[in-house]
Amino acid sequence: MTPLIDPFARPISYLRVSVTDRCDFRCTYCMAEHMQFLPKKDLLTLEELDRLCSTFIRLGVEKLRITGGEPLVRRDIMTFFRTMSRHLDSGALKELTLTTNGSQLARFADELAACGIRRVNVSLDTLDPAKFAEITRWGRLPQVLEGIAAAKRAGLRVKINTVALKGFNEDELFPLLDWCAQEGHDLTFIEVMPMGEMGEEMRLDQYWPLKDLRARLAERFTLTDLAERSGGPARYVRIEETGQKIGFITPLTHNFCESCNRVRVTCTGELFMCLGQEDMADLRAPLRAAADDGVLEQAIRAAIARKPKGHDFDYSRQKVAGQMSRHMSHTGG
Ligand code: SAM
Ligand code: SF4
Repeated sequence: MTPLIDPFARPISYLRVSVTDRCDFRCTYCMAEHMQFLPKKDLLTLEELDRLCSTFIRLGVEKLRITGGEPLVRRDIMTFFRTMSRHLDSGALKELTLTTNGSQLARFADELAACGIRRVNVSLDTLDPAKFAEITRWGRLPQVLEGIAAAKRAGLRVKINTVALKGFNEDELFPLLDWCAQEGHDLTFIEVMPMGEMGEEMRLDQYWPLKDLRARLAERFTLTDLAERSGGPARYVRIEETGQKIGFITPLTHNFCESCNRVRVTCTGELFMCLGQEDMADLRAPLRAAADDGVLEQAIRAAIARKPKGHDFDYSRQKVAGQMSRHMSHTGG
């Protein structure tokens, strides 16, 4: 089988799949408080998700990340993880992982570990319960900390993803770093991206460039750039004084498109070849058109053949250019 290679000679080995648009939180930078969610019939069923992911794996995808919305609020999602683990057993899939807000981890961490999951990314922007309630609107910090502890007990490696928000968690940079060091979690900072139809002014207000965050870190620590890449957009530094490795995801100040190996599928089966472009291919129709995967495979190949070179996000000139109207919960980040 010919593997998936895009027009810029980039092999597609990483698939991110959103399994639901729903969530038990309403993070202010991600969702509106009152969201209109999709009718159930529009969502891919668990069986369709399995066929879709298995087809991508047959075409060379080696890393699969499940996301959302909140993936762990999708009903029976453990059935999906259990069936996908067969691709880990066969060796076709090297990594099965998920990005979660952590609220359901206390319930599911053991089962996830039993399905062959080794690492989870947990989004956490603050360690202050009041600020946590403010930014997530509906979330409770103790429940998430309990979930993270359960993941650790189950033997899962935890990476904390923190969205850098000006005037919100700037003062928690060092406390977050210390907490992750104590708990043995990796830590990655994410620059806030212009997703969804929030006001332009608010977004520029929240924008805390990671180069400023990094400069703040460098005031206290010696930072060494690491060549290491995780097959994604993160760049890493080591803090010499503590040995901690810190990731930075800077889609807006640093263009990482040249090494992009990934595509995304939404919970309705839309394949986005680039997070920052509107072009997409519908995979739900080919999935539903035939019981065998031939039509689906053709649709995937045709879409990869038009994967664009890169995105157009740009905060320079104090204007949000290239802004996307999709919410992050739609494409799963
Ligand atoms: N619910 C899960 C979670 O929160 O981890 C998975 C889905 S969430 C959309 C995936 C990631 O996107 C989270 O780390 C979240 O912080 C991040 N995110 C959401 N909106 C964002 C935005 N506007 N800019 C940057 N990151 C964003
Ligand atoms: Fe939900 Fe994750 Fe979006 Fe927060 S960032 S609202 S937890 S999907």
